[in-house]
Amino acid sequence: MIGYHEDFREELTALEAQSRLRKLPEDFAALRPGLIDMSSNDYLGLAAEGESLAEEFLSVSKCRDFTSCASRLLSHRQKEHLLLEDLLSSLYGKEALIFNSGYHANVGVIQALALPGTIFVADRLAHASMIDGLILSRSPFERFRHNDINHLKRILLKHREAARIVVITEAIFSMDGDSAPLHELTALKEEFPNMLLYLDEAHSVGVCGPQGLGRAEEENLLDNIDIIIGTFGKALASSGAFVATSPAVKEWLINSARSLIFSTALPPVNVAYTRFILEKVVDMNERRQRLKCLSAKFREGLSRLTGAHTPSVSQIVPWITGDSALALKISADLREAGFDALPIRRPTVPPGGERIRFSLSASLTEEDISRLLYHINSLSAHYADRMA
Ligand code: PMP
Repeated sequence: MIGYHEDFREELTALEAQSRLRKLPEDFAALRPGLIDMSSNDYLGLAAEGESLAEEFLSVSKCRDFTSCASRLLSHRQKEHLLLEDLLSSLYGKEALIFNSGYHANVGVIQALALPGTIFVADRLAHASMIDGLILSRSPFERFRHNDINHLKRILLKHREAARIVVITEAIFSMDGDSAPLHELTALKEEFPNMLLYLDEAHSVGVCGPQGLGRAEEENLLDNIDIIIGTFGKALASSGAFVATSPAVKEWLINSARSLIFSTALPPVNVAYTRFILEKVVDMNERRQRLKCLSAKFREGLSRLTGAHTPSVSQIVPWITGDSALALKISADLREAGFDALPIRRPTVPPGGERIRFSLSASLTEEDISRLLYHINSLSAHYADRMA
């Protein structure tokens, strides 16, 4: 028994020696007062206003149901789930189905799509939840070089005869903050009629598009994307996720998505809160614009001051250090300066891609961004000889 524990201790010691040991961060409220959160995904600043929003929600919603007590297929507490699905359906012009989280959605939907004869092709930087769905699907899959349409096309040509090829990508990539070339991807569907496009909009829901529906809405491509995944735990400051797709795929998911069938549904009160927030988010163009301006200013400053190219076109902006120990050190220095920006290390990013991931929010001020850039400038000079 003791040996069994020691095996894990040895693994942990090895991780620590490589500066890769992960620890849960402290509760934010317990940290230094005034510390600015640059790590969570509160893109519209709604989590920061959580207390007043919750009060308003409790004054307008009668829902106080904190459990579903069963999975969607067995629970009679469906009203709030159906109302939210109706709202999502009318916004996206597709059928919507709620999942407990983005992780549940990606794992469950990808696994369910794996009818015999299906080939999956995923962008090399697709989120771990999609990769886990692919592994669970036990179907053949390939990866195409990040955002490389020519490479994808060569793979599609190879599988021209397949019954269907599901191409999996993200609207805004969670670690690099860049965007998939949606027009080129949807154009491929005309050339390859056996292709379905699967788009994870986790980091673009709330943030992009005239109603905050995501990048597909922004590019006027909602009708050209077969399966859209959105999450509620980021810009919408709630939790859970949804898929928006065709009526047949929705019905198939209800019959086959294991993460939906075998897991207790989200509490109705949480779903009601998501609907309350979503109704507001549709009209939050001012915040979306503000976030865009702050992000552009930060991206420009970061590249100018550090001389490093940033792939980002969004509110997710990485500063790549290329080294775990350095990412840890810079994160600690930034915290001293009043900014909580956490390091991202292997296996979340490939070796050499270690970074500080700045996640911007519309609740930041221009002065916050200027102050952050000032500290980045000093740190960049201080660690110049250790940078990637
Ligand atoms: N997809 C992407 C692109 C993500 O970044 C994440 C979470 N970081 C998820 C899905 C999972 O979503 P959730 O946190 O709701 O499980």
